Order: sequence, then C-alpha cells, then structure tokens
Amino acid sequence: MRSPAGGDPPAARIAGFATVASRRHDTPEARVDLRTFSRSRPRFQPPTVRSMRRRYVTEQLDPAAIDPHVRARAIMEGTTRDLSYPPNPEALTVPVYDNHTHLEIADGENPLHYREHLDRASAVGVRGVVQVGTDVLTSRWSAAVAAREPRVLAAVAIHPNEAPALAEAGELDAALAVIDELAAHPRVVAIGETGLDYFRTEPGAGRDAQLAAFEAHIAIAKRHGLALQIHDRDAHDDIVATLLRVGAPERTVFHCFSGDAVLAATLAENGWYASFAGTVTFKNATGLREALEVMPRQLVLVETDAPFLTPHPFRGRPNGPYLMPHTVRAMADYLGTDVSMLCALISSNTEQVYGTWDAQPVVAPGDPWAGPDDVPGDPHDLGGALPENYPGER
Ligand SMILES: [Zn+2]
Repeated sequence: MRSPAGGDPPAARIAGFATVASRRHDTPEARVDLRTFSRSRPRFQPPTVRSMRRRYVTEQLDPAAIDPHVRARAIMEGTTRDLSYPPNPEALTVPVYDNHTHLEIADGENPLHYREHLDRASAVGVRGVVQVGTDVLTSRWSAAVAAREPRVLAAVAIHPNEAPALAEAGELDAALAVIDELAAHPRVVAIGETGLDYFRTEPGAGRDAQLAAFEAHIAIAKRHGLALQIHDRDAHDDIVATLLRVGAPERTVFHCFSGDAVLAATLAENGWYASFAGTVTFKNATGLREALEVMPRQLVLVETDAPFLTPHPFRGRPNGPYLMPHTVRAMADYLGTDVSMLCALISSNTEQVYGTWDAQPVVAPGDPWAGPDDVPGDPHDLGGALPENYPGER
C-alpha cells in the first residue's frame, strides 16, 4: 500500500475527473481550455452489515482507495506548462499557516491526495491550512475534511463566478442556505471565497447576482461570527464600497490580495487583512510588494491558493501548501526582516482570524458515524452532511 507521506506517484488513482475544472482562477497560467473528463471511478458497493465496519475501516486506512478530487485543473493538450510538482523547499524553522488553498482540485501529471499535500506541508513547516470551498459540493467536502483532519479548517461559500449561473437557474438561494448550514459546523471558520469578479463577468444580471451573493455571504459570516474571505478580481472599488455600506465582519480577509499601496491603505484603515499569495514573488509584481510594505504587519497573512499561483521560481507548475516557504522567504527578503520572525507574526495573525487549529476536536478515526458510502476524503460520497453525532455542534 502506498504510504500517505508520498511514495510512488498516485497516477493510477486519477482515472478521470468528475466535473469541469475551475473557471474562476483565471490567472495567466490557468487561462487555458479546461476540459471535462469522463470518470471511471468504481462505486463503493454497499457491504453486508457484518462486513461493514471492518471494510469501512480498511477503506479509511488506504489512501489509494480514496479519490479526493472534485475538480481537475487543466491537464490539457498543447500546454507547455511543466506538470510535475516542484521539490520540497528547505523547511521553515518557525511554522506558518496557509490560509487559502483548494486541495480538492487535481493538478499535474500525478495529482497529490490531500493527505499527501498535508504531509508535505508538515515536513516543511506549514502547520495547517484553510481549505476553501467554492460551491455546494466543494464546501461540503471542505467541511467534511476539516471535521476529520486536525491540520485542516474549512471556509465555505459560493464563488462569485458560480453565482450568476445559479441565480439564472433559480438555485442561488438554496445554495446559500447550504452554506448557512455548513457555517454552523465548529471547524468551519470562514465564509469564502465570496466577492466580485469583474474579469469574468460583464455588467448586468451576472454582476447583480454576484453582488446579491456577496451581501448574503457577509450576512452569514456576521450571523455565525466567522471570518470573511474575499475574492476581488478587478473590482476593488465595489468590494470596498459594499463592505462599508453593509458593514464588514469583524475579521475580513482579502484573499490573494491583488491591489496596490492605495488599496492596502484602505485595508489598513479598516483593519482588514491582506493575504499574499505566490503572486507577490513574481518579477513584475512591484505594486503588490509596495502594498505589502504599507500593510501593518499585524494584518498580513499568506496563502498558496493552490493549485494556482505557484511562487517563483516554480511559476506555472502545480502548487501546494508545501511551497509556501518560497513566498514567505521572498516577503521577508523584500521587507528586510528575519523569516522566522515574519512566520511567527503571520501565524499569530492567522490564529487571530480563524482561531487555533486544535480549538475544536476532529472526529476520531474509525468512529462509526459514517455509512458505508461515506468514505472520508471522497467528496462524491458526501452528498449529505457531516456525521450526526459530530461533537461540539454549535
Ligand atoms: Zn481560491
């Protein structure tokens, strides 16, 4: 059996992918044709009652039996992108958190299982992640994984690029109701990513739907006392105006901060956080680095937004939380500060926003809470909710 820590590549596991890849992360690297893959994953057959528990436990212990990928990023023909995962960087001495990642998206020739991602992250001093949902399925998956995995906390939301189609189909309210339900689970610590994306959506009904969804998410975050993770693509002014008009949640994070020093000053003035992704390491990202410089240090966070936005010198290759040391080292370098001090500060900031990763217990492995189809890590079998006897409901 393959070890969760790595070992031979899990190529065979990824026979195909269920749904269309993300359209939302339309970064230069991601701006490619994304294709639907037919999927040939064998369904888990309901076992007999007698064999159920033993079989369930066996499944749970075998990561090769679990396909965590809800979506696939472009594994497309004709790309010149190097689809191999970069090597582990030198480990950080002081650990740090990745406060925004998408471990459910398969990328590269040999997509990593989420546990492999976490083990590689642990090996280089990335202590925990916030796993971010973007629709009902991935939000459920994020909450379910967070309920079981101590290194994962969850954020749940309908992404602004999903909102227009849902609104048109008359399904947006129902989707938001699911997000509201998931928000009540103890290891769901943020509502996000939500916001406005003017790069993908033209003025008109689509943007109206985004704004309605954004406002609804803000209300959910406030109602549950959760942090808010904002997706802001070419929409700085309207994001800020909306937050000021309806009132921002107490802890508001601009995920993958993409503004300049002017927007950074607005964040600083309002006590909002800027989360820097691998983009801050890019050669042409002068504006971002200037923004970093003017941000009060206690409002700075870091993230990977994996599998996108891989930091220099591996830009374009598949990303994972384990590559974040490149980003924090570049930031420390630019700020002229010690990387360990910066990591300590960022970890402290991160815990201010989301709480500590061990504040709420996870379900113990082997708990008989799940039905035979509810294999941890498999989003396709998590149609319902979290286990009924999940501890610490609030
Ligand atoms: Zn994201």
